[in-house]
Amino acid sequence: MRRMDADVAVIGGGPGGYVCAIRAGQLGLRTIIIEPDKLGGECLNYGCIPSKSLITVSKLVDRLKEAEKFGLKTDGVSLDYVQMQKWKSEVVSKLVSGVEALLKGNHVTIIKGSAEILTKDRIAVTTQSGREEIPTRSIVIATGTEPIQLQGLERDGQVVIGSKEALELTSAPKRLLVVGGGAIGLEFACMYQKFGSQVTVVELMAQLLPGSDPEVVRVVQKKLEARGAKVFLGSKVTSLTKSSGVAKVELETPVGPISIIADKVLVSVGRRPRTAGMNIAGLGIKTDQRGFILASQRMMTNVDGVYAIGDVSGPPLLAHKASKQGIVAAECIAGLPSAADWRAMPDAIFTDPEVASVGITEAKAAEAGVEVKRTRFQFSALGRALSTGETEGFVKVVSRAKDGLVVGVQIVGPDASNLISEVALAMEMGATVEDIALTVHPHPTLSEALMEAAESASGSPIHQMKI
Ligand code: FAD
Repeated sequence: MRRMDADVAVIGGGPGGYVCAIRAGQLGLRTIIIEPDKLGGECLNYGCIPSKSLITVSKLVDRLKEAEKFGLKTDGVSLDYVQMQKWKSEVVSKLVSGVEALLKGNHVTIIKGSAEILTKDRIAVTTQSGREEIPTRSIVIATGTEPIQLQGLERDGQVVIGSKEALELTSAPKRLLVVGGGAIGLEFACMYQKFGSQVTVVELMAQLLPGSDPEVVRVVQKKLEARGAKVFLGSKVTSLTKSSGVAKVELETPVGPISIIADKVLVSVGRRPRTAGMNIAGLGIKTDQRGFILASQRMMTNVDGVYAIGDVSGPPLLAHKASKQGIVAAECIAGLPSAADWRAMPDAIFTDPEVASVGITEAKAAEAGVEVKRTRFQFSALGRALSTGETEGFVKVVSRAKDGLVVGVQIVGPDASNLISEVALAMEMGATVEDIALTVHPHPTLSEALMEAAESASGSPIHQMKI
């Protein structure tokens, strides 16, 4: 049995936990990280990275299919799924081993096992060689989330699958039903559509990507449907029966009951916090109604010395948010005056076209009683977008009417996921639309769309008519 006192025990090796452990190690804290699965958590192994690797291939396939438009002759495109999966796994492995090297390089002790919290200064870890108790000065809960299972739609890994299985398929299902039109469901819908699946999406709410700007969502839905997908909003699955490897699914929709036959049903209806073994009740750790752990701006729970970061501490469920919180937690444990006080938390959805946003939408501004101005610039009027043949979508800038402060930006269009970082920086710096409009943007680039929308907001548009 190993005996080791820790300054900080990080439970979970995802982007929240491993970043926290690295920072804690850098700050000279005796740090252990406990992870039963692969380092990197959901994001590196079953989420962000493998999904974006496959999405990249699907985009390439799609672009090659329209190659003739650009004068490029190909002899047809065929996809080797086995090679694609191999490549994806190599990308993941490279990143996972990078995380391990960084942890070791920062003197973090990695324990492959599952942790339980006994008291606020003692954990138990179960490994292949047994169970051991470890005293620790502080604990960081970074155990993430797990998919919500719907009754009647339980995953069997074959016909009814979750995102994890959807990343491992070795061919595109002929008919794919996606239950849940949130970010994860739609990324898979767009991807498998490009691989040739006939896609149907069922969403309970009145719009896809609930919570996103409806104008933005319309662009994504239009493209999905233009490629042949069927989208049922305000609809739900009422029953699912399986026979001979296919599912017969009954839907209740605003236009009446509908039957769908699907080769795969991807259920992506949200995630719930993974807190088994965290002794939430025993320690009296406060959670919200859905069980997400409540943490302060210093990422500490209501129990002194016990911290919670990342997805387990509630939405938005984003890897970069988890990592930032991990840094704050480590610094607070080390006695530094850190706090989660960022103004802007960007998010990106890798649909076709991509969606990215930061700050608030017009609707949220109205709810908050903030008078705003809203300006847009369409990619179809931008030289760079035309020259790459990706002209769908727009940049929308929401600014405070009284002084032009940028309070939110929504982008739907090419490379939205990269473009949003400029806005996050601008918002962190308290920029106004004039600041962005006066910043010279290189030509021809997609970033000019943001400048143009900001120029409109500050009353000096060049490439669109003044309104
Ligand atoms: P996790 O990454 O979930 O890590 C938690 C870790 O804790 C796991 O490795 C788990 O094994 C471990 N653990 C659990 N219980 C115990 C225990 N008792 N003892 C020890 N360890 C334990 N986010 C983005 O920002 N961008 C994206 O493009 C994106 N794409 C996604 C695509 C998919 C398909 C999915 C599913 C998610 C995606 N996400 C994306 C979300 C992202 O993966 C999460 O926000 C992120 O992984 C959260 O990090 P975390 O450290 O809080 O938790």
